Amino acid sequence: AKAAGGNRFELADPGADARAITRHGLTTALPAALERGEFFIEYQPLVHLGDGSVRGAEALVRWLHPQHGVLGPDRFIPLAEDTGLIVPLGRWVLEQSVRQARAWRERHGDGPLRINVNLSPCQLTHPGLVQDTVDILERAGVEPQVLCLEVTESALIGADDDLLKPLRRLAEMGVDIALDDFGTGYSNLANLRRLPVSVLKLDRSFTQSMQQFPADPVDLKIVEGIVSLAHSLDLAVTVEGVETGAQAEQLRILGCDTAQGWYYARPGPPERLHQLALVDATG
Ligand code: C2E
Ligand code: CA
Ligand code: CA
Ligand code: CA
Repeated sequence: AKAAGGNRFELADPGADARAITRHGLTTALPAALERGEFFIEYQPLVHLGDGSVRGAEALVRWLHPQHGVLGPDRFIPLAEDTGLIVPLGRWVLEQSVRQARAWRERHGDGPLRINVNLSPCQLTHPGLVQDTVDILERAGVEPQVLCLEVTESALIGADDDLLKPLRRLAEMGVDIALDDFGTGYSNLANLRRLPVSVLKLDRSFTQSMQQFPADPVDLKIVEGIVSLAHSLDLAVTVEGVETGAQAEQLRILGCDTAQGWYYARPGPPERLHQLALVDATG
């Protein structure tokens, strides 16, 4: 019934109308925003669960909109995907992030500061992906091993060889591929074998169910199963959305390798990550 009355409902509801205008306004403003440099990137550290050291960071894009202030990616990434702007925007994020990784390494010596960058499904099907990535790494003087590209599990469900080919080429070069939001997509676990991935990023919902200590026994079994399967396939497991020490401890005991979340640090400017890593290196 909701779908059938969808259009009428939008016209009748002033709230929906305002949202539609905003959506349209944001969509048309996107290309100029990219040209004017209104996007910026925050970095959130990835922490080793065993020893607490900072191993790298995930790049998360934001839009400093002249009227609406800072907009999160959930507000504009879907619009950029609809209009194709995600390709140049994604390329910009990749270039900035890789240059940032280079800057961290210059100040931090040969430290293991790696950079994770999200890839939208539209970027996966874009023919320039591999060459653009190679060019960006070369221009910045950064080895492919420093980069991890995050692709959502849902983007790869039922993926055919054409879709996997660019990811395979990148993986062969040494770029890590992570399966993001893992555990939500109902993918066939046996399918994992044919995907060129080296990292599973467990969806935040699993972390949330570790709120109590001890956590729900069924969820514990599921995470335990995923971790043991991942490790038997030589994949590392990263957990996201860690907000409490109890969650971190539970996930560490379950054998997860790396964690990310507000418990360690919120996403922030690149200088902050450098401070965190330095504190870490000196004790
Ligand atoms: P994601 O890749 O799953 O990123 C993790 C999200 O969880 C981020 O939201 C991050 O700020 C948030 N987060 C981190 N720690 C915690 C925590 O402890 N608790 C809670 N509740 N949340 C936490 P954000 O920055 O709003 O990004 C949302 C999504 O937008 C990302 O989800 C990703 O799918 C997409 N995105 C962000 N940057 C890019 C980009 O450059 N390109 C593309 N294609 N997508 C991006
Ligand atoms: Ca991600
Ligand atoms: Ca995720
Ligand atoms: Ca997500």
